[in-house]
Amino acid sequence: MEKVLLVRYTEIHLKGLNRPYFERALVTNMKRALHGINSLAAEEGGEGLPAAEEPYIEREHGRIYVRGVREEAFEAALDRLTRVFGIHSISPAWAVDKEWETVVAAAGELMAPLVEKAPNSTFKVFARRSDKHYQFNSDAICRELGGRMLELYPTLSVDVHTPEIKLCVEIRDRAYIYCEEIKGANGMPIGTAGKATLLISGGIDSPVAGYMMAKRGLTLSAVHFYSYPYTSERARDKVVELTKLVSKYAGEIRLHLVPFTEIQMTIYEQCPEKETTVLMRRLMMKISERIAREEGAMALITGESLGQVASQTLEALNVTNDAVSMPVFRPLIGFDKDEIMDIARRIGTYETSILPYEDCCTVFVPKHPVTKPKLDELRASEAKVDFSAMIEKALADAELMVIR
Ligand code: ATP
Ligand code: MG
Repeated sequence: MEKVLLVRYTEIHLKGLNRPYFERALVTNMKRALHGINSLAAEEGGEGLPAAEEPYIEREHGRIYVRGVREEAFEAALDRLTRVFGIHSISPAWAVDKEWETVVAAAGELMAPLVEKAPNSTFKVFARRSDKHYQFNSDAICRELGGRMLELYPTLSVDVHTPEIKLCVEIRDRAYIYCEEIKGANGMPIGTAGKATLLISGGIDSPVAGYMMAKRGLTLSAVHFYSYPYTSERARDKVVELTKLVSKYAGEIRLHLVPFTEIQMTIYEQCPEKETTVLMRRLMMKISERIAREEGAMALITGESLGQVASQTLEALNVTNDAVSMPVFRPLIGFDKDEIMDIARRIGTYETSILPYEDCCTVFVPKHPVTKPKLDELRASEAKVDFSAMIEKALADAELMVIR
C-alpha cells in the first residue's frame, strides 16, 4: 500500500489547446512548493532519517499524483499544496494493487477509523474506472464494495443522496481509494498570466490585493515606500514579513524598498496641504511604474477600495491613474473593509497587518484632504515642483530583497 496525494485542478481544463502549458506550470509550482519537504520531515523526525529524495509528481488523465512523500511529511505536504493556485482539491489516497480482494481489504481498513468514530454513519461508494477491462464496471464496483462494507460494518447504512462518508474508488493503473477531499486554493497557476507589480504598504488591504491577483496566475513583484526616520525600521520589517506571507501563495517576490522621505517632505513643504495625499499617490505610482517596466511587469496592483478613504474616491482614483500609463489592477475596488479583513484572516496576513507601526501615508495625513481633486489642479501643483531628480535618486537608492 502506498499513500499518494491525488490532485484535481481547476479552470485549467477550460483552456483548450493551452492546457498542457497550464498543466506544466501547475506541476512546476507544486514541485517548488514541495521542495525539501521530505528532508524537513527527516530533520523534524529526528534520529537517523537519511537525507530524503524529493516527491515525484505525475500527470495522468486530468489528474496529478504526488508520490514519494514520507509519512512524517504528509500533513505538511498537504498544507503546502492547499496554497498552490490552480488546485481545486486534494485527496490523500491509498494506492493498492487493483486485484479485487486487495481493494476490498484496503477500503475496509481506510473506513475503520471513521466507523469507529461514528458507528451509525451513512455512506456511499463512488467509483470511476479508466481501465475498461476491469472485471467490474463502475456500477458493479459500487454495488459489490457497498455490500462488502455493510458485511464488515453492519452498523453503517447506505444513503445515496447525502452520505456522511464518501468512499471513493478509482480503478486506473492501480486502485486509488480515499474518503477525504480537501479544498484547494483554486485560481490559475502562478506564472501563466504574466507579471505585475504590487504597491505594498503595511496595511490590511494591499497584501490581500496581491494575493488576489496572484490567484489569477500573475507573478508578483512588489514596491514599498518608506520614509525613514518618520517611519521606523520595524514598520519596514513588517512589510517584509507581509511580503513573505503573500509569497507562501505567490512564490518568489522581488521586493523593492524605495526611500521616499525626500519626495514626501518636498510635497509636504511645497504643495497645498489638502492635496498632499493624492500627490504622494501619484509619485508612488510613477516610481512603481518605472520599477515595473524594469521588472518586465505589465500592470500595477493596489489595495484601493472605492470610497474607503479620501484618496480613494472616484475623482482621486482618476487623478492617481493619470500619473501612469500602465493598467492598474484594484481587485478590492468593490469590497467592504469587513470582506477584505475576512480574506486577510483566511490567508494569514491579518495579524501582521494590524501591528501598530506607522506607515508613510499615516505620518503625513492632511487634516482636510481634498475628496474631489480636480485633475488639472493636481497636475498644476505637481508641475510646480521638479521631482525628476528626486525620482531618479529614489530609484537609485532603492534596495532589492528577493523574498521566497
Ligand atoms: P493598505 O491597507 O494596503 O495600507 P489603505 O486602505 O491603508 O491600504 P492607503 O494607505 O490609502 O490605503 O493606500 C492605498 C494603496 O496605495 C495601498 O493599498 C497600497 O497599494 C498603496 N500604498 C500605500 N502606501 C504605500 C507604501 N508606503 N508603499 C507602497 N504602496 C503603498
Ligand atoms: Mg495604508
